[in-house]
Amino acid sequence: MIDKCPLCGGRVRPTAKRGRVGRHRNVRDLPIPADLEIPTCAKCGEAYVDLATGRALDAALKAAYDERLRAAARTAIASIIASVTQKDLERRLGLAHGYVSKLLAGKKTPSYDLAAHLVLLARSPKRRLEEEAEAMGGVGLSLKAPAGHAEADKLRRKRRGATAAA
Ligand SMILES: [Zn+2]
Repeated sequence: MIDKCPLCGGRVRPTAKRGRVGRHRNVRDLPIPADLEIPTCAKCGEAYVDLATGRALDAALKAAYDERLRAAARTAIASIIASVTQKDLERRLGLAHGYVSKLLAGKKTPSYDLAAHLVLLARSPKRRLEEEAEAMGGVGLSLKAPAGHAEADKLRRKRRGATAAA
């Protein structure tokens, strides 16, 4: 590790700091652990990443990247399954049975593509899935309402019926 900054002559020291971000593959703004020491010039702030620091940084950013993908998928799925069953979602997306549950539990790390796809689907699940099936010749499904919602619909119909009868 160098100890003198070639840019300004300031002292370079292993520095841990909060609020730093970095990039991994196609995602930027990934948090760098506050306790990860990076040789940094105390005067001008220039970072001097040596091999060992580089390896630690790469590993930390990869972990943050994977966590970003898992979190995005989890949030999107939680929203999607309010109107589409997990089973329908899996069939429509061609995913293995049970995979959506694993994503929801954070037990699997989705690809960037799948996470991004789920994020977009969550904006209008039924409409997007129908558009996709139409464009791709996808499997036609009933897109039954999830169990909780079917019950809610039944109750609503019953209540409406009761009002009409009264
Ligand atoms: Zn400097």
